[in-house]
Amino acid sequence: MRMPSGSNGQSTGAGALLAILRDGHARTRAELAQLTGLSRSTVSQRLDGLIDHRWVVAGDGAISSGGRPAAVFAFNGSAHVVLAADLGATHARLAVLDLGMTVLAEQAVELPIDEGPERTLEFVAAAFEESLAGLGHDPAAVCGVGVGLPGPVEHASGRPVNPPIMPGWDGFCVPEWLGARLGGGRRTGPPPVLVDNDVNIMALGEHWAARPAVDHLIFIKIGTGIGCGIISGRRLHRGAQGAAGDVGHIRVPASDAPCRCGNSGCLEAIAGGASMAAALRAAGVEARGSRDVVALMRAGDLRATRLVRQAGREVGAVMASIVNFFNPSVIVLGGDIAEAGEQVLAGVRETIYSRSLPLATQHLGIRASELGDRAGVIGAAVMVVEHVLAPEAIDRAVT
Ligand SMILES: [Zn+2]
Repeated sequence: MRMPSGSNGQSTGAGALLAILRDGHARTRAELAQLTGLSRSTVSQRLDGLIDHRWVVAGDGAISSGGRPAAVFAFNGSAHVVLAADLGATHARLAVLDLGMTVLAEQAVELPIDEGPERTLEFVAAAFEESLAGLGHDPAAVCGVGVGLPGPVEHASGRPVNPPIMPGWDGFCVPEWLGARLGGGRRTGPPPVLVDNDVNIMALGEHWAARPAVDHLIFIKIGTGIGCGIISGRRLHRGAQGAAGDVGHIRVPASDAPCRCGNSGCLEAIAGGASMAAALRAAGVEARGSRDVVALMRAGDLRATRLVRQAGREVGAVMASIVNFFNPSVIVLGGDIAEAGEQVLAGVRETIYSRSLPLATQHLGIRASELGDRAGVIGAAVMVVEHVLAPEAIDRAVT
């Protein structure tokens, strides 16, 4: 486990000790004192606070030469759990994880987001309660809830902002509703609920799972629509209003295709799954959405194959500019259309390498998502774990 992104190496509070122990190695008081520059008595005091809150467990270490075994201390990842939900347009994935990011329970369900916030979130809350009961966990063990939504979200308030495919959700305070719903019977009050859009949490998930040492990563989702999540300096970059990464509405010079945003010539209007399905329907081929486009391609339909390849090149052309501007070390492709595999990846690679500056592409990796459709739910958990275990948050909780 890497250090939490909030750690600046300067803090020497209880949170900083926990950040050290999160790498999975048990350590003695002496080792911790040496690593932090704190006195042993201060280390002991901080460890007591962490043990009281069950963030850390104590045990006996190996017997050193000629002496008694020194007590060792380890991160207690299994004492608390995190609830994670990745809600899509028609399906959802829900999971319960411990703070060590071990998945304890996971399910994929059909759940149309257009049922509105209360019905959707009630289903999610009930499913979480059932999972917790099945695992034998008390609701008090929940230290946070992460939710991904298929639309723009103001992360600070957890409210969707004019989400196009989510009727009834505009401005709905997800943290307040879900916190109250899941907080009943907890002495400590409602758990924190963090909300973000699906592409951001997918970027977090992919960064955590596959490339924890990568500092600058872009996750691009090509599904019904197109968007990207940006990891800059190992942290998610959301921008001033949480709108960073909305590459789907960048204008493609040679196109004047009308887009659902009201403009024309947007990337999404020619390379998004919805627009490709519409193009196929116009040619007399039955295709309802991005999954049908990929299914047709896999079945050998030449029109679908041509569209998907061209979509890869169009996405690559936009990403080439982004590569020059942002200089990521890894670009990860995800979403239904990206799961078509090499057809898309080849088009994206070809265009990025031919149009970006050599220095920017020298060590650039472009690859498919490793987590696939689990990236969102894992990322929702990462978002919560990093929030709950941030050194500042631990310092506040312990004192
Ligand atoms: Zn648009």
